[in-house]
Amino acid sequence: MPTYAYVCQKCTTEFTMRRKFNEMDDPAVCPECKSAETKRQISLFYATNTGSSTSAASSPGTKIRHI
Ligand SMILES: [Zn+2]
Repeated sequence: MPTYAYVCQKCTTEFTMRRKFNEMDDPAVCPECKSAETKRQISLFYATNTGSSTSAASSPGTKIRHI
């Protein structure tokens, strides 16, 4: 199961969660302030699988390369 990074929009806390692919865009609750206003960041998981292609990585519809 891949790890995704999120950042809280309220307190700017950065945290990671292990989730399934189809849950990666579900709301993640901030561990600090319990806010659901969090945003998924480009994770290390993507960085190691998409090379330096920032244009693809920044797109909401980024395709996932299954290994
Ligand atoms: Zn927070």
